[in-house]
Amino acid sequence: MEISKPHAVLLSSPGTGHLIPVLELGNRLVTHHNFTVTIFVVSSHMSPAESQVLQSSLTPKLCDIIELPPVDISGLVEPNAAVVTLLAVMMREVRSSLRSAISAMKQRPTVLIVDLFGTESLSIGDEFDMLKYLYCASNAWFLALTIYVPFLDKLVVGEYVHQKEPLKIPGCNPIQPDDVVDPMLDRTNQQYFEYLRIGTEAVMSDGILVNTWEDLQPTIITALRDKNLLGGIVKVPVHCIGPITRPVSNAKSTDLFDWLDKQPSESVIYVSFGSGGALSYEQMTEVAWGLELSQQRFVWVVRPPTVEAADAAFFTAGKGGDDPLSYLPDGFLTRTQSLGFVVPLWAPQVDVLNHVSVGGFLSHCGWSSTLESITNGVPMIAWPLYAEQKMNATLLTEEIGVAIRSKVLPSKKVVKREEIETMVRKIIEDKNGNGIRAKVKELKYSAEKALSNGGSSHNALSQVEQECKISMQRQKRVSTQ
Ligand code: UDP
Repeated sequence: MEISKPHAVLLSSPGTGHLIPVLELGNRLVTHHNFTVTIFVVSSHMSPAESQVLQSSLTPKLCDIIELPPVDISGLVEPNAAVVTLLAVMMREVRSSLRSAISAMKQRPTVLIVDLFGTESLSIGDEFDMLKYLYCASNAWFLALTIYVPFLDKLVVGEYVHQKEPLKIPGCNPIQPDDVVDPMLDRTNQQYFEYLRIGTEAVMSDGILVNTWEDLQPTIITALRDKNLLGGIVKVPVHCIGPITRPVSNAKSTDLFDWLDKQPSESVIYVSFGSGGALSYEQMTEVAWGLELSQQRFVWVVRPPTVEAADAAFFTAGKGGDDPLSYLPDGFLTRTQSLGFVVPLWAPQVDVLNHVSVGGFLSHCGWSSTLESITNGVPMIAWPLYAEQKMNATLLTEEIGVAIRSKVLPSKKVVKREEIETMVRKIIEDKNGNGIRAKVKELKYSAEKALSNGGSSHNALSQVEQECKISMQRQKRVSTQ
């Protein structure tokens, strides 16, 4: 390891959707900012998709990846505990092995960077005299809510979802009660207390990295820095470093890409609900009929339906077993043979979105999927299911203007086939519908500019690099005294 380079230790919480942005941040620190990077991942519950993502990150191997020993939380959580609770407890239990692993490193690392579920490990940074950053892999509006929720907790009486008025966050767009994040749905549930704790701990870092860019969310970013608004709570620098997304891969010779190669430009709608999303059987049937009725070309990543929560596939992304295609309506595959391509369980999403034939994305609005859509200039049909996706859908449709959405909330009601047909036609047939295609292309270039040399996101990570170099010099002085 080169002693002159800052050494960043990144901690990822479990879940493919959490691992991907951490890996990509690590890669960017190595390739653009002269860091050495070690990434700690939590190996309990590693899903097939997660293992595949980890495997593919080894070529080329830019970061050292270390799997922390599995943690057994079975005696620590209620049966049917929410995903947020499970993640919070796992990350609490993993602290001692993280501490031992850092302590065993020959050279003291410069900086510890944790994602939202890792905030309890920030104090380990202090123990080893390291800088400590929080990495919010989602957007600035969600970050604003997260750090403000301990204040809402004191201001709001009753359940958030029962409020008559939107929830006010200083300097930001208010949040509709229907849009609150999952852990705010029930103020007596453990996941709410974990979320409150995360909000409190987030601002105890030395800085916050957020996966957005200055020109995408200027108002909220200003509020996060303004001492009279949220900046009164967030006293540390907020660095907008995004969009951090997976790169397009070069290995694309499969039946799917052979099929895509034969389709006209921007004629295909890509349908996928992220790493953890699943639909009810009834909703899956309506999506199938909606696609068929629209007579538009499609690529659909199909999972077995869920009778439980919409995040049912969170810990099992990409896992086989039940044949997902057996749940499709009778004759669907034959009738749509020339129209569409069905992919069981998991697709190479970034490569699909990057293909010239793809002209729309029916998406659950996970933040990585959102950024992948924007950076490939693909407009969206917003279909939020869980986590912060309802806020993301509102941001994309009402604020940023790169998506359309259904009149009903898919997490509450079944979206009917006729409405799906209309939305798919609108996004694919009406090429300039609502100007959203033009807007998403404009943002694609704005994102490229932010990441390029001298761009705002590049500069933000250069500043982090500088802060780390100053800290290294201080560490060196202390060790030679
Ligand atoms: N993803 C993928 N193939 C799939 C489904 C998802 O490659 O079939 C990737 C997607 O490209 C994104 C991540 O998994 O990088 C999902 O993250 P996101 O934040 O969109 O949603 P989450 O899964 O966390 O809800």
